[in-house]
Amino acid sequence: MPKFLIYGAFIALFLGFIAFAYAYQAQRFTDTEVGFEEITQTEINGLPLEFQNWERPEGPLRVGVQVGHWQLENVPEELSGLRRTAGTQGGGKKEWEVALAIAQELQALLESKGVVVDLLPATIPPRYFADVFVSIHADGSTDTRVSGFKAAAPWRDYTGKSQELVSIFNEEYAKTTGMKQDSNISRRMRGYYAFNWRRYEHSIHPMTVAMIVETGFLTNPQDQRILINTPERPAQGIANTIFKFLDINN
Ligand SMILES: [Zn+2]
Repeated sequence: MPKFLIYGAFIALFLGFIAFAYAYQAQRFTDTEVGFEEITQTEINGLPLEFQNWERPEGPLRVGVQVGHWQLENVPEELSGLRRTAGTQGGGKKEWEVALAIAQELQALLESKGVVVDLLPATIPPRYFADVFVSIHADGSTDTRVSGFKAAAPWRDYTGKSQELVSIFNEEYAKTTGMKQDSNISRRMRGYYAFNWRRYEHSIHPMTVAMIVETGFLTNPQDQRILINTPERPAQGIANTIFKFLDINN
């Protein structure tokens, strides 16, 4: 046998051993190191394996309407930090009162089309699933000139559709309210606690399409008038968004 074949065989065996040792070590590392669990999870197009064959629960179209800062006194321990976030106020109204009035108008509009609506307080049910989840808020600023609405989708969106919902909203809401869009989306909006199913039990199911809406500034006279005197207008803007998104004849 030629010498180079014997050497070649040794080199191949050696490289094979190195590759095996490396793979074994890499696996052990990801299996045992806390915080590295994500690496072992197979993902295709960013969607984890456990959701690739996910099927929507059977039943009629369902929309979750959350009233921001509502019933803060009932939040569970994991959300206790929320008790300090009472929201903004203006025109003699607290943020949750304004959001509740809009949410109730929205509920009536959606139910008139056969959509099942869950009117939800600050605490939502664990792993809450709906075809659309909307959290309703109003903004505040020390500068009364600051005005406008805005909406944001969750950072981590396994549905891949929440951004589309936001785009429709930006168009529909401007039409029904006549307000302008405020482009200052904060990181806090996209990381809203009710979207954060990794951290909180009382949050949306990962396959729930969601957005958080700042309906306008309660501290701005023009916005305030629209929000407080005509809650049906912001409600119509959000309803039209959902009808369009869910393909419901309006
Ligand atoms: Zn708020």
